[in-house]
Amino acid sequence: MFPMTPTARAAVVAHLEELELLTARDFEAVSAPAAILELQAREHGWTDLVWRAQLIIADVAGRRGDVAEQGRVARRANLWAEEHGDEFLLARSHRLLSIVFRRLGDPAQALVHAVSGLQHADGMPDRLRCNQLITLGLVLDLNGRFDDAKRRFTEAMRIADEHHDTHQALTVLNNMAFTAYENEDPDEANALARQLVDVAGRGGIPLDGLHLDTLARILMMQNRWDEAERILQPLIDDPDGPLHSEGDSLPECLLTLAEIYRAQGRHALTGETLDAAGRLCEERELGSIAARVHRARAEWHATAGDYRKAYEAYQRFHALTVTLHSAEREARAYAMQALFEATEARKASAQFQEMAERDALTGLFNRRYLDGKLSATVAAARRTGGPLSLAIIDLDHFKRVNDTLSHAVGDAVLREIGTLLNTFGTGPEITARLGGEEFVLLLPGIAAAAAHARCEQLVSLIRNHDWSPMTGSLPVTASIGLAVSEAGELPPDALLGHADEWLYQAKRNGRDQVQADPAAVPLDIT
Ligand code: GH3
Ligand code: MG
Ligand code: MG
Repeated sequence: MFPMTPTARAAVVAHLEELELLTARDFEAVSAPAAILELQAREHGWTDLVWRAQLIIADVAGRRGDVAEQGRVARRANLWAEEHGDEFLLARSHRLLSIVFRRLGDPAQALVHAVSGLQHADGMPDRLRCNQLITLGLVLDLNGRFDDAKRRFTEAMRIADEHHDTHQALTVLNNMAFTAYENEDPDEANALARQLVDVAGRGGIPLDGLHLDTLARILMMQNRWDEAERILQPLIDDPDGPLHSEGDSLPECLLTLAEIYRAQGRHALTGETLDAAGRLCEERELGSIAARVHRARAEWHATAGDYRKAYEAYQRFHALTVTLHSAEREARAYAMQALFEATEARKASAQFQEMAERDALTGLFNRRYLDGKLSATVAAARRTGGPLSLAIIDLDHFKRVNDTLSHAVGDAVLREIGTLLNTFGTGPEITARLGGEEFVLLLPGIAAAAAHARCEQLVSLIRNHDWSPMTGSLPVTASIGLAVSEAGELPPDALLGHADEWLYQAKRNGRDQVQADPAAVPLDIT
């Protein structure tokens, strides 16, 4: 029944979050419960949660090696999220798309999605946001931006520590260690490797395939081949075992192992290992690892002196990387374009917004903006019963400036008035150009007497300003009509009408002065 619904939804959300976090650690355990949650969400018509469950299932498909399925679901979820402005789903789907492109060997496109994935992650629970950071760090590393990667990993590490999440900490450490390895920094790599082993040991968590592959590579960069081989052995002994936490773990380990065998001079074993790695890459559509397998095979043939076969393998490597790299270049161009357009569009819309609200000559707010602001301010004053004053400022004998000097000088005077008003208005006060040589000073929440004093200040500010560089001996003064709504009782039209009446009074009375509602006129107590 109805009262149950919010709690039921909250329960599904909580369960989904649990599964989203568990996926990295034990993806075989999350598909079935996610499928049940998907059905529940569907029954209630919670489409966003249906997508959330589907993304979990797609994430698992990708880890099992079905990258295409992961990509299809992530793409559709992303479109739905875009249409519905669902930040959480945008973050999750962009992250999964980033992983898809990484697996396909397209680092540029992976980076675009990883960046978007983090941009939409502000409202996410910490530990899910941590995963978004890790993905971005990984992809930055892949694009050779090691310092940026490190910054993201450090931030992710802080979150993992804060939540005492050992699994997450291990993932971060593993990626940091791999970055140090790629950056050819053995000291940093060794320190991080030690930390990785320590943290896993203290948490009682066995290191998985990707962790061990990192450790092996760090040993290899120091020519410690036998130790590297020993580290990978359990992974090769049990290819379907739980140590392979992701679909690319086994082919990655096999490729590493082939490199070790070749360095050790074990020729036949190297070839067999590369064959096995190549088959897995084909099955799992792992483009970037596949290319590296071809290159390793070329080197293997060359070691044996079979240059013809080496050349053929190298050609296969080249063909694959050229495909990948041209796709990459295209993707990068496309990504730059998309980013450019997005920022330009944002800038342009901000500019249009600004243009729509501002007067071109003086830079002050325009009539359109004032109308909106005035209704809102009147409504607020009515709600709170607070005071609200409105002054109309009209330049005196302005036609004279235009006629005796020039229209250009008239414009310069108006611009200068704009600057004066702009610096004059403080706090809640709003200044605007009503049109022509008429301006408005809106004074929300300011009591009648104070408003009157402000208007007197303004009249003398204009009178005493040094206009001589512009107008020579011709003075520039203004008349002000002030209307006061003591408890928010006057509607916008009445405020403007009263102010106009008092302005007329000021003109008749000799100009260069303030005329106001009696409430605003200070009592003469001397
Ligand atoms: P007063 O208000 O003191 O009675 O005299 P006034 O000469 O200011 O009166 P009026 O309102 O009749 O004239 C306003 C003049 O302001 C008319 C118009 O040419 C001039 N004006 C309005 N907009 C602009 C503008 O954007 N630039 C310039 N240079 N002049 C403008
Ligand atoms: Mg006028
Ligand atoms: Mg005038």
